[in-house]
Amino acid sequence: MRIGTGYDSHRLVEGRKLILGGVEIPFEKGLQGHSDADVLCHAIIDSIIGALGLGDIGKHFPDTDAKWRDASSIALLSTTVEMMRREGFEVTWIDSVIFAESPKLQPFIQAMKERLSSAGIPQGIINIKAKTNEGMGFIGRGEGIAAQTVCLLKHNNNRSTN
Ligand code: MG
Repeated sequence: MRIGTGYDSHRLVEGRKLILGGVEIPFEKGLQGHSDADVLCHAIIDSIIGALGLGDIGKHFPDTDAKWRDASSIALLSTTVEMMRREGFEVTWIDSVIFAESPKLQPFIQAMKERLSSAGIPQGIINIKAKTNEGMGFIGRGEGIAAQTVCLLKHNNNRSTN
């Protein structure tokens, strides 16, 4: 078994789509970033890479690489799941939290789970929570959105993992 943790935050700006968990959410602002800036996908990716002991998301998908400009983070997650399988691991469980003062995300969580399942994270092994930050800090002021994840991976055979 391996545990991994992931955290990501991006700034909310005008003129960008808001994409969370691969789902486009109607809102007057979106997250700024090199890719689609999907903080939930990025936190999940970082938790998986962490559990694999393979560094971090920036090492595998550098924002200096034009290849990842405006990339779909669902595609980055798919690539991460493929890497995890090559290492001989499967996801046992993911728990995640999105921190956003607005918009209300509860109505979109089922759609996020469906979208994430297309990237190799089945609906039955992920929990997604959404919270506000009670008006405090950068999230509370609506300057950005963050996400936090833990994942548990299980090695699927008896081979050495190193
Ligand atoms: Mg990010």
